[in-house]
Amino acid sequence: MRIAMISEHASPLAILGGEDAGGQNTHVAELSAALAAAGHDVRVYTRRDAVDLPVTVRSPDGYDVVHVPAGPAEPVAKDALLPHMRQFGAWLIDRWRGGDWTPEVIHAHFWMSGLAALEAGRRTGVPVVQTYHALGTVKRRHQGVQDTSPARRISYERQLGCSVDRVVAQCRDEVGELVRMGVPRSAMTVIPSGVNLATFAPLGPATEREPGRARILTVGRLVERKGFQTVVRAMAHVPEAECVVVGGPPAGLLETDPYARRLRALAGSCGVADRVRLVGAVPREEMGRWYRSADILVAAPWYEPFGLTPLEAMACGVPVVATAVGGLRDTVVDGVTGDLVPARDPRALGEALRALLDDRIRRFAYAGAARARARRHYSWAVTAQRLAEVYDEVAAVHRPTRVVA
Ligand code: UDP
Repeated sequence: MRIAMISEHASPLAILGGEDAGGQNTHVAELSAALAAAGHDVRVYTRRDAVDLPVTVRSPDGYDVVHVPAGPAEPVAKDALLPHMRQFGAWLIDRWRGGDWTPEVIHAHFWMSGLAALEAGRRTGVPVVQTYHALGTVKRRHQGVQDTSPARRISYERQLGCSVDRVVAQCRDEVGELVRMGVPRSAMTVIPSGVNLATFAPLGPATEREPGRARILTVGRLVERKGFQTVVRAMAHVPEAECVVVGGPPAGLLETDPYARRLRALAGSCGVADRVRLVGAVPREEMGRWYRSADILVAAPWYEPFGLTPLEAMACGVPVVATAVGGLRDTVVDGVTGDLVPARDPRALGEALRALLDDRIRRFAYAGAARARARRHYSWAVTAQRLAEVYDEVAAVHRPTRVVA
């Protein structure tokens, strides 16, 4: 099938760890690679954010990345991109009407991509599948006035859910949120993200660590909602162990990063500064080394639409202690592959970490179950296969009469 992925801010070619580059980039890259490996013709459309980018770049994983001119050819914060989505959609329409390649299905990632995709789909008669990756309602609930999303995000997300040919939710929690927003359950299919089981495996090189000192690893963009402050506070309840934080700006820029500075100051005031280490952004291909070096992966977000990092750790055979939120309630099986704790509760997190570090047999059991669960339920090949079935279904029922001249 000819498949157009739209991922306006999250390029599959981006370096991860920065403020707007994380799970969506990985998801689009891995999904496109898996679909290409299954014989599909995949093009990923992302915003051109540098002047020197060629229009089309062939990924070594067998799909094309097309850089769409929409707004300035420079980095623009995700929350400031809405005014450029009309231009994004118009460019797609021109391209698909005039060119030699028109998709049979469009899969939009994030709500702003959905707006451009819906417009282009209507104008060219191509069905649209939507994956939100994150929802404005959830963000508003947790971030309140600090939420910098465009004011109309939630109403756009609702309209999208009621207009696209299919919504692909990533976890059960998201289904509940969408239903409460007014999106019909019949429009949804739940298909979780996958994990790269070749990259993330128990055997392989691991980063060095201090002998005799347990390592707790936590990974993610250095943003408040990822809960790194809770992890740092929890370290006061976990004597001796070290905490390694992967993500954020490249190591050389950590000194000037405001959130990294806050974390360091907090570690100082909690008396754990000598046991908390920030390493900055790590290239995707080196992530396995970090997971394999850890005794426990901790993920303590306030909310999490899906959460790839716990799954990557599980695939490496690392037990996970996570907050019981969003997608983590599906991936981490409490008491089987890890432990779930309440969000924003450093004491509960610290006690869970300490108890698990003190119990080698339970860690061993969790590690095996985590690895087995990742293999059985979360391979990208299976995710891609299930999505391809959805693409087939929407393409089969899509009526060409919807084409607008
Ligand atoms: N990641 C990475 N390098 C880093 C930090 C993160 O490659 O320095 C990757 C990580 O392996 C995962 C993704 O970024 O694939 C983060 O996805 P997740 O769903 O955990 O969080 P999000 O960023 O989407 O909120």
